Amino acid sequence: MIYADYNGSAPICEDVKEYFINRLQEGPFANPNAIHRLGTKVLTAMENSRAMCAKVLGAKYTQVIFNSGASEGITQVFHSVLESALDDGKNIIITSGIEHSAIINCSRYYENKGYTYKVLPTLSNGVVDIKTLIDWTSEFRGRIALISVMAANNETGVVQPYKEIANLCHESAIPYLCDTTQLIGKEEFNFKDSNIDYAVTSGHKFGALTGTGILIAKHPAKLSALVIGGGQEKGIRGGTQNYLGYETLAVALNSFQKNSHKYKDLKAKKLEFESKIKERFPQVVILGEESHRVPSTTYIAFPGIHGQAVQIELESSDIFVTTSSACSDNEPVTSKVLKAMGVTDEVGRGVVRISLGHCSPLESYDEILEALTKAYEKLGKIKSY
Ligand code: PLP
Repeated sequence: MIYADYNGSAPICEDVKEYFINRLQEGPFANPNAIHRLGTKVLTAMENSRAMCAKVLGAKYTQVIFNSGASEGITQVFHSVLESALDDGKNIIITSGIEHSAIINCSRYYENKGYTYKVLPTLSNGVVDIKTLIDWTSEFRGRIALISVMAANNETGVVQPYKEIANLCHESAIPYLCDTTQLIGKEEFNFKDSNIDYAVTSGHKFGALTGTGILIAKHPAKLSALVIGGGQEKGIRGGTQNYLGYETLAVALNSFQKNSHKYKDLKAKKLEFESKIKERFPQVVILGEESHRVPSTTYIAFPGIHGQAVQIELESSDIFVTTSSACSDNEPVTSKVLKAMGVTDEVGRGVVRISLGHCSPLESYDEILEALTKAYEKLGKIKSY
């Protein structure tokens, strides 16, 4: 079996499995906010985990807020930044057309509350058009409430110029939310060096437990709580903490740091796979190919052969891929990310996403190459559209 849907959800990584099994056997379990000794032990373990996450991500310990994942972090930042920005004459939200629906839906929500929602164009190479962003920041000076552009795209894997955007936002005093969900755990990320105001991620994308996540805020005091609860997480995120889950975040991030060198080989193997499949089928298109991509994502289309048919063929060989992101998988149409890149339906309907992680064996690409070759040969005879 080859699991090639890491961008959808990574399997729980080996270090986390080992840690978690021991942790469940040995305890302690208690409310981290309790004043007794067991509570203090649990709190100490959780705070040590926070310190480890902060270290790997280049943030200050006090800037790391634990939560349930990226969707929650994104919603909290939108809510915190936009609850009163209109009163200060800031009425514009800028995002890109390749953002995850968690960002797009928040933008639409606030559009209904009176904000103007502007969508930054994306170039055909999958990179957002930074020149337009520069123009907009001067054209709408003093009126932009929030800019939200992701660090790496979930479908193409294309890495965006997030540091440049962060500096642009910083110079113009515009809050910058960067969705780092698909970058963290695949490439080095340093919050301090990036100059981002808010970064979000989900544990299940890098081998920690599902339902855990991190919001990093340059100035956490500017955040207001979505869940008021009993003042946990310094009043920023109420409710008794999912301390076991948060411990797995630290273990998974440490595992990434320890194994990050493996991505070099994985990237080389991916490029070899891509060039071999193109040799065999010259009509194949690899989306975002010419851009800097995270090391282990390939978004590939055979025009005329439906992506879902390819996915089913691969699944019959026990290889699990998706056609686009998990959220839009049920729609056999060109994804909004590809539409934003100006990709035609001929190509867009043919895509499958192959995404691996640092724990994946390199030979996975050899097996995928052979299975994909068989699928294209078989389906090419009965083109599906
Ligand atoms: N942002 C990106 C880029 C994602 O890929 C995802 C998940 O697919 C999310 C946000 C939302 O993550 P979650 O569903 O874990 O909250």
